[in-house]
Amino acid sequence: MSIGIGTRSRAIKRDGLNGNSETDCTVYTKQVRIVGTGPAALMAGSKLVLEGFSVSFYEHKKAAARKFLVAGHGGFNLSNAQPTADFVEKYTHTEIKKCVERFDNQQLVLFFEQIGIPTYVGSTGKIFPAKGIKPIEVLNAWMNWLKSNGAVFYMEHKCIDFTETQVCFSTKQGIQWVDFDFLVMALGGGSWTKTGSDGSWVELFETKEIDVEPFVASNAGMNVSFTSDPSHVAGEVFKNVVATMGVMEKKGEITLTTYGFEGAPIYYLNRAFRDNPLDPLVIDFKPQLPLERVVEVIKSAPNPSQALKNLKLSKATRWLLKSQLTKSDFTNPMLLAAHVKAFSLKIDSLRSMEEAISTAGGVDWRELHSDFSLKKYPKIFLCGEMLNWDAPTGGYLLQAAFATGHWVGAAVAHTTK
Ligand SMILES: Cc1cc2nc3c(=O)[nH]c(=O)nc-3n(C[C@H](O)[C@H](O)[C@H](O)COP(=O)(O)OP(=O)(O)OC[C@H]3O[C@@H](n4cnc5c(N)ncnc54)[C@H](O)[C@@H]3O)c2cc1C
Repeated sequence: MSIGIGTRSRAIKRDGLNGNSETDCTVYTKQVRIVGTGPAALMAGSKLVLEGFSVSFYEHKKAAARKFLVAGHGGFNLSNAQPTADFVEKYTHTEIKKCVERFDNQQLVLFFEQIGIPTYVGSTGKIFPAKGIKPIEVLNAWMNWLKSNGAVFYMEHKCIDFTETQVCFSTKQGIQWVDFDFLVMALGGGSWTKTGSDGSWVELFETKEIDVEPFVASNAGMNVSFTSDPSHVAGEVFKNVVATMGVMEKKGEITLTTYGFEGAPIYYLNRAFRDNPLDPLVIDFKPQLPLERVVEVIKSAPNPSQALKNLKLSKATRWLLKSQLTKSDFTNPMLLAAHVKAFSLKIDSLRSMEEAISTAGGVDWRELHSDFSLKKYPKIFLCGEMLNWDAPTGGYLLQAAFATGHWVGAAVAHTTK
């Protein structure tokens, strides 16, 4: 019997996550091409090889998943151990919430365990690969597992066009048109372009009349016009502060820089800034002390500078308060205490998209069916950061990339059954 496109036959189906075994089962001979090698693409491919599909990955850089590796600098925060009901509240779009409900942090941990990457939960609830496992080892384990399940990787293949049945790559050998039964695109957002996630696909999608919400920086630092030069305290951290903007609030560490602020609370408040840029950033430098206690400490000190030291405020905090407040506010104990508890600052702008950890914006949801296939090209499925959603750092971005990849992999498999 011939195994033509779209037929099913008795053959080798991938056996769980541990390799292949010859079983009497269905194998799908349809060719799935996946463009991109980031976490969304790799997870879509993983679901598909487990379903018995023949999968090929195409990446325009020389090496795979460079942004995934960059995310591993300074700790590889794969996900977060929050309960799913709280977890999904971090996402702006219901479509992403549904994906994360279906493929949640526990399923992710199980997946990594099964490909040989144990994980652990850090003190703040973030999920990391077990200590000593480097980001490149995670990637290698994953790619080797995919290869052992028949996946093929083509590097230096830039997707430059597609039709309903073919995808076109620019390669060193020239232009190549490749047939597909299903195409998965996981081309990423528009920040850190040197990693390959350069958003150049947006122009192509626009020529196909597929609406894309313009990218904006997300999880980016904030620019502030300080009234004096902060160079001597740049790099210092405000520890255990609570930052507020509009109705959004986040506890954590903020780093003072020459241009403004960086750090998890700042990234979290990006959305609040985009919604209402005129709202000030308000920082409580002593969230554990009530205002009355701060007033007492300040009043009992011989001068305001000593008062701030008695409050155990860092050098950077003391510089910020002294340099940015008027003399009359700084020398008035009641007003100084109020500023310690609610220091208010106008934010000029977010740092550039290039520097941002992620981008909000992407393919408009109205262009997609609920299985994330394109309405104009039903054999093409999209996943990851190229879709229009936003979330804070803390593992939520990667979990969404994994979960949307899994969603699309399952959808392609379901379409064939
Ligand atoms: C500095 C930094 C730190 C981060 N830290 C964290 C963190 O701690 N926790 C967290 O959850 N997230 C973090 N992230 C975010 C996370 O890395 C991304 O959200 C995630 O990688 C997105 O996955 P993706 O698969 O959708 O896209 P990407 O990982 O961007 O992958 C897209 C891939 O497609 C390829 N590609 C693009 N266009 C083409 C084309 N035309 N042809 C062929 N290939 C193409 C790209 O080269 C790339 O390999 C961080 C990001 C950065 C930059």
